[in-house]
Amino acid sequence: MAAGSSELRQWLQAHGLRPTGPRLAILGFLRARGEHLTPAEIFEGLRAAGRPISIATLYQNLQALSRGGLVKRIVGPDGALRYDVNLAPHHHLVCQRCGRLVDVELSGPIATKPVAPHAGDLAGWEVVSVHVQFYGLCPQCAGSRRSEEGPAANRGPLPGDGNGRRRPRLTG
Ligand SMILES: [Zn+2]
Ligand SMILES: [Zn+2]
Repeated sequence: MAAGSSELRQWLQAHGLRPTGPRLAILGFLRARGEHLTPAEIFEGLRAAGRPISIATLYQNLQALSRGGLVKRIVGPDGALRYDVNLAPHHHLVCQRCGRLVDVELSGPIATKPVAPHAGDLAGWEVVSVHVQFYGLCPQCAGSRRSEEGPAANRGPLPGDGNGRRRPRLTG
């Protein structure tokens, strides 16, 4: 979806935010990239695109956009805060190694209704949304792990004690 600046302007105004230059630049950049970016990545990206803004301006405006409901904040397994412009309900698949995060839909038998382990613990709760996070390795990280491990990773099971079975080791 190509987002013209007049569309972004209207979108900001509809959420009660003034369409300032930095806000238009941040939103336009996030929507064009379609990724979940950290403030540092947005800062670098805007600078590379020839529309630099200061870190302070960036943080102030990300906060305003988030409060206005125009971006969502997500924290990945690396603890880094990322910004998402996809406001439709969706879930995420996260790379455990580099923190890259992609949008996913749910498929198959996944329970999305909370059940308390002890009856009554959820009394009075009102559930408003569900966010499921899957963890894994992105293609780049999975590829580099395979090359680090090398062919030794493909070796068979370890030899047993000679009787074809291994003694369980009791500890503690
Ligand atoms: Zn990765
Ligand atoms: Zn997302």
